[in-house]
Amino acid sequence: MRTPRAARALLAGVYLRGIGLHRRPLPGEEPTALQPEPRGAAINTQRVQGFSSSSDCALQVCVVGSGPAGFYAAQHVLKKSAIVDVYEKLPVPFGLVRFGVAPDHPEVKNVINSFTQTMHHGRCSFYGNITVGKDISVEELKQAYHVVILAYGAQDNLMLEIPGESLHGVYSARSIVEWYNGVPGIQNLNPDLSCETAVILGQGNVALDVARILISPIDLLKKTDITSYSLEAIAASKVKRVLIVGRRGPLQVAFTIKELREMVNLPGARPLFNPSDFEGLREIIKDKPRPRKRLTELMVKTALEKPSAKEAKRQEEAAKEWGLRFLRSPVQILPTSDGKHVAGIRLSVNKLEGSGESLRSIQTEELEDVECGLVLSSIGYKSHPISSSFPFDNKKRVIPNHLGRVLNTPGLYCSGWVKRGPTGVILTTMNDSFETAESVVKDVKSGSLNLSVPKAGFSAVQALLQQRGVCLVSFPGWEKINEAELAKGAKLGKSREKLSNVEEMLQVANQ
Ligand SMILES: Cc1cc2nc3c(=O)[nH]c(=O)nc-3n(C[C@H](O)[C@H](O)[C@H](O)COP(=O)(O)OP(=O)(O)OC[C@H]3O[C@@H](n4cnc5c(N)ncnc54)[C@H](O)[C@@H]3O)c2cc1C
Repeated sequence: MRTPRAARALLAGVYLRGIGLHRRPLPGEEPTALQPEPRGAAINTQRVQGFSSSSDCALQVCVVGSGPAGFYAAQHVLKKSAIVDVYEKLPVPFGLVRFGVAPDHPEVKNVINSFTQTMHHGRCSFYGNITVGKDISVEELKQAYHVVILAYGAQDNLMLEIPGESLHGVYSARSIVEWYNGVPGIQNLNPDLSCETAVILGQGNVALDVARILISPIDLLKKTDITSYSLEAIAASKVKRVLIVGRRGPLQVAFTIKELREMVNLPGARPLFNPSDFEGLREIIKDKPRPRKRLTELMVKTALEKPSAKEAKRQEEAAKEWGLRFLRSPVQILPTSDGKHVAGIRLSVNKLEGSGESLRSIQTEELEDVECGLVLSSIGYKSHPISSSFPFDNKKRVIPNHLGRVLNTPGLYCSGWVKRGPTGVILTTMNDSFETAESVVKDVKSGSLNLSVPKAGFSAVQALLQQRGVCLVSFPGWEKINEAELAKGAKLGKSREKLSNVEEMLQVANQ
């Protein structure tokens, strides 16, 4: 039986007061000194089990960012009886799990169930729609909490920095991903899908995701949580060929086997491989580690082996095609005669020099023009500093740290993509966040974090946000958005139809 929404909010032990949110112990949950009622300054004199000496007060932890890095760090610190507040820029949680992972990979999004459990913990709260660095500063958070963990990911993308990058028809893969995944504010991107050939620059999983979504049969997408507006645009798309271009060779692609296999077997699409790119590779990969070996074997098999009769028929009947182009770097995006749109891309032909870590692709003088109407750059994400008062490595685009401890800044930690750079899957992010959380635990235990001074936690921040007129979204608020999205999706025969307008989200969350 489904419980009415208001009753469930009560069951969850949560109530709203103004914009403030306070959490009571969950029914059935053991009352501990860590389940304040209501939360606020009073809690700060309570002792934290598992951490502190008799002179210590409750450990107040704040996490900036609600992607995997934020949630896994929160999960780990919660085990040690801290009080954890998660601040998120968007009105909704889960970062790239919601806004990055492809809509046709719902199984990857199952981690949301464990993140939701974390948020239902009596000592954990979510505060959405707060941009740290704008609505509240890291310095103010440091005043209010003993520990601040920066887990705000990589919110920008690297630019190609070549002529023609601003032509109509050039997009970052990031913006396309955000468009089909419903990031608020990007609905009107309207990518021009009126051409037949798209070129994607970069050979990682994001490039494969975007290529797959662009040429997947619409039947494979229509029941997913892909936004309806992008589904409509993709259904009307004229794109029938996608070339995925890399500056290095087949042995350096950054795909994972699952994603590549999915692409090779994509219904309605045939692989367009150049056999000469793969000749002799079997010998070279004999001694390579297993993941690289399997990946290369799949490419070699696809390129060089005669397909079965069934596969040959499938390929022949496919209306769309995709291919990999190696040892090519973009030099210029070529304009149409009116100088406004993409007409093609000029690539330099590269050669590889060096080996191992020092392997480099070097541009030769040879150039190649490829006709296309759409260019998507998928060459990487990048992080930004959100405070000038704390260290940031502008070259590596990460927060300089030792095992998650921000250098020379006691009480400040980092995890996830902003800590190690924008690479790696959710599992990698999980391990890296546990490492950071473990550093917090060790610092508390060793006494290098000063817990003798009580910190006000959210109640101090709440006062500032109230003064600044910031409208919060609580976790129960997100759960109302979630329900609205599921209901909207059900009407359309989809798993979910995302709300992608902040005003609407705030309205639903706070009704
Ligand atoms: C397109 C794409 C597809 C992917 N697909 C997969 C996949 O299928 N499987 C897999 O295992 N991995 C996948 N990954 C990798 C995975 O998403 C990352 O490893 C993981 O999300 C990184 O976690 P994070 O928390 O560091 O960053 P994010 O997930 O980006 O989370 C950061 C959070 O911080 C918030 N934030 C940013 N700035 C602020 C601020 N100033 N104040 C408050 N909050 C802020 C953001 O809104 C966001 O919610 C994919 C990545 C991308 C880019």
